[in-house]
Amino acid sequence: LQPFDYVRPRSLAEVAQLLEEADAQTCILAGGTHLLPEIELGRIRPRLLIDIKAAPELNELRYTNSEGLTLGAAIPISQLLTSPEVRRHYPLLQEVARIWGSVQVRNRATVGGNICQASPAADMVTALLCFDAECRIFGPEGERWTPLERFLLGPGRTALKPNEVLVSVRLPSLGGKSVGAYRFVRKGKGGHVTLAGVAVRAVAISHGVASWRMALAGLASSPKRVSEAEHILEAGELNEHAIHRAAQKAADAAEPIDDARASARYRAALAPVLAERSIRAVARQMWGYGA
Ligand SMILES: Cc1cc2nc3c(=O)[nH]c(=O)nc-3n(C[C@H](O)[C@H](O)[C@H](O)COP(=O)(O)OP(=O)(O)OC[C@H]3O[C@@H](n4cnc5c(N)ncnc54)[C@H](O)[C@@H]3O)c2cc1C
Repeated sequence: LQPFDYVRPRSLAEVAQLLEEADAQTCILAGGTHLLPEIELGRIRPRLLIDIKAAPELNELRYTNSEGLTLGAAIPISQLLTSPEVRRHYPLLQEVARIWGSVQVRNRATVGGNICQASPAADMVTALLCFDAECRIFGPEGERWTPLERFLLGPGRTALKPNEVLVSVRLPSLGGKSVGAYRFVRKGKGGHVTLAGVAVRAVAISHGVASWRMALAGLASSPKRVSEAEHILEAGELNEHAIHRAAQKAADAAEPIDDARASARYRAALAPVLAERSIRAVARQMWGYGA
């Protein structure tokens, strides 16, 4: 292991100052569940690690009716499980947090790390897309905001410029009963990489009518929204025809690839099945549909 320096700034201002002096061998360290194995394998050789976990601005978990939910980039996945506001307004986030690796990994892995790692199969990113999440970014030119959808540029690639840090994500408030479901397939017992997953959330408007969101994991170069399915589900009172058509839109939107874990064909076949299961799980919780 090549030796490296380690710093633990105590505020966002200190993080920003360190990043201004950073070079290509400076890495931001959050929970380290992705970064540390990469360093150990020699795939990343940093000279300096900036541990962002002690900066209060990156550890916020705050909900207000006007602003919605702010999740600091450095909050661990496990913290989502203990928040009453997340349980009440964004239960899909808790469903995803519960299926994360293991207790130890959940206590280390952060929300921001899941976003910045930019894995096509990132489970929390997929759930966050269902809430129109916006990313707060800080860098030498100050602060900027970008929708999560535009932050993701492909495997391992994000819209972060050199010397920028993801500070937090903001999820707008929803103004109604919110229900979510995430159906996924992983390889083997204890596997932690999602081969394919479909997240769905609905916010009730009236009986059988809701505002819907759907997003895919492991089925394209980044997690992605399926707006065509959302439009079908929002077009009127939910029925069997709409469920089948929306699930088919998930299949149409999928652009899976072959890799060591699964074939593109297998992933493509999973897309409509998982989409239908997620839609049904949401409709059952929301209205007792099909129960
Ligand atoms: C055993 C195991 C189980 C796992 N289970 C799951 C799972 O169920 N679902 C899932 O989606 N993933 C899973 N993962 C993958 C990984 O844990 C997650 O992607 C995790 O959220 C990464 O967060 P981290 O804080 O550990 O990131 P780190 O490893 O600290 O960082 C990841 C990358 O993001 C950069 N980065 C981190 N934070 C910021 C920031 N705020 N601003 C700018 N750059 C930043 C780092 O420089 C690094 O390049 C698992 C991994 C392991 C080893």
